[in-house]
Amino acid sequence: MATTPTQIPSLNYTAGRMNYRPEAIVIHIMEGSLSGTDSWFKNRQSSVSAHYGIGTNGEIHQYVQENDTAWHAGRVNAPSWNLIKPVRNGLYRNPNYYTIGIEHEGNENSEWTDTMYESSSSLIAEVAQRWNIPIDRYHIIGHHEIYSLKTCPGFKVDLDKLVDMSRRKVGYNPSFTIINQAGSVKTTSQLRIRIGNPSTMNPVLRIAPIGEVINYVGYTDEGQEVAEVTRWYKTVDGNWFWGGGVVEGY
Ligand SMILES: [Zn+2]
Repeated sequence: MATTPTQIPSLNYTAGRMNYRPEAIVIHIMEGSLSGTDSWFKNRQSSVSAHYGIGTNGEIHQYVQENDTAWHAGRVNAPSWNLIKPVRNGLYRNPNYYTIGIEHEGNENSEWTDTMYESSSSLIAEVAQRWNIPIDRYHIIGHHEIYSLKTCPGFKVDLDKLVDMSRRKVGYNPSFTIINQAGSVKTTSQLRIRIGNPSTMNPVLRIAPIGEVINYVGYTDEGQEVAEVTRWYKTVDGNWFWGGGVVEGY
């Protein structure tokens, strides 16, 4: 059930990404309607854009291609975001180069419709998979976390809920059962050890080389399904790796 955004190209963008790639998704509120945003982003004088806009009815519009830089979060003021890239002397790399911007219809005080949450989480899940962006609150952020002088995306959106819905769409089961049974395995391929949960949407702690023996303290058969394997192992220090890249009995 891939989303099919309606293409409404904006001229307000920078071609390419200055050697960066999308590493995070910035959530915005339009402070207006979807149709108003369509014309605002088409207007060269506005000098703003985003990659996507989503209506309260779930409709998705695309204004800028993901490979290009949209003009949605270029200003930085007292950022609270941990992953922002500083340059020097309190200056920052322009966040537009390494983020995807998604606008949402409404204003800072309007309730988000279920349909808008649905569409937005589907789009986030797709974008995250395309660019291997972990789906968590470090990588799915509100605009004000970059630019503190704005309230964007407003007071009503529940970003934790949006992240949770997006994670479920990539096959992550939030209520998995852990079998507490220790053992050890040997890697058969380079294996990503993930922080936090049995899911490829979690940040990578390190990459284990082929042939490494790893001790585990437990496992689950209800982790994210990858190549029809749902077994994930929990390491001694509480991290996770996928069972498809190892053999048992070491
Ligand atoms: Zn914004």
